Amino acid sequence: MLKVDLHCHSNVSDGVLAPAAVAAYARKDGVDAWALTDHDEVGGIKAARAAARELGMHFVAGVEISVTWAGETVHVVGLQIDEDDPVLVAGLEATRGGRDARGREIAAQLAQAGIPGAYEGALKYVGNPDLMSRTHFARYLVEIGACDSTAEVFRKYLTEGKPGYVPHRWANLEQAMGWIRSAGGIAVIAHPGRYRFSDTAQGALFDEFRQLGGNAIEVVTGSHTPDQYQTYAELARRYGFLASRGTDFHAPGESRVEFAALPPLPSGLRPVWHDWF
Ligand code: AMP
Ligand code: MN
Ligand code: MN
Ligand code: MN
Repeated sequence: MLKVDLHCHSNVSDGVLAPAAVAAYARKDGVDAWALTDHDEVGGIKAARAAARELGMHFVAGVEISVTWAGETVHVVGLQIDEDDPVLVAGLEATRGGRDARGREIAAQLAQAGIPGAYEGALKYVGNPDLMSRTHFARYLVEIGACDSTAEVFRKYLTEGKPGYVPHRWANLEQAMGWIRSAGGIAVIAHPGRYRFSDTAQGALFDEFRQLGGNAIEVVTGSHTPDQYQTYAELARRYGFLASRGTDFHAPGESRVEFAALPPLPSGLRPVWHDWF
């Protein structure tokens, strides 16, 4: 059975390794088919594809698009995309705009909370000036000892009601689905267990996603707990969605699960990659 990982980040967004280094890290852990899915950016795809080929891995070009739906941020992964598609490229460029200004506002709030210099501090971790992310602030807050881990940062800072939370309006679901469709890709709702929706709201998201042509969700992801693997397996069966799997890798030692430790999809699911490899 092929070991498939369809959700990973490089330093082109908020990961720490260059695309080729992520490929090597995944391969070393036994991955046979791999997608790079940086946030709102496809700048790493060509280097990732070349590295994957050299390492003998199947490669899937991907992207993880930030979407605002019902006032919450939802991530939609596009897989098997043409990274040069002009509609996709223009859409992603527009959605990245505003991250720098948001970063300055995050820093201003942290300064008020007694942590000065966070913009410059976070910037040291930024690999792509267009893609300043909360993750970069989280790494800086760990560096200065404000928190012990990035997970603790997201409990104490940068999230709703906490210092350094700056609400941001991303793409809407229809736009993101349109960009993925234009690029010939297939859309997957990323880590559905991470959103704080009621069952009703989640059902509405799934229905709207399906109406817009979506038919896959992530089931086994480093962003789910093992209980959630079962919950979303059941929901995938109920909705007839294809199932995806990926670590959501950002950095060695930073993610909940490493490549080698992520379990396979539960049985009775149709993998999103069923006719790709
Ligand atoms: P942004 O796109 O700038 O809002 O940053 C979102 C990123 O922050 C996500 O892609 C994750 O990498 C990271 N993140 C968000 N929430 C958490 C959390 N609770 N624990 C760890 N990382 C998180
Ligand atoms: Mn991230
Ligand atoms: Mn995500
Ligand atoms: Mn991700």
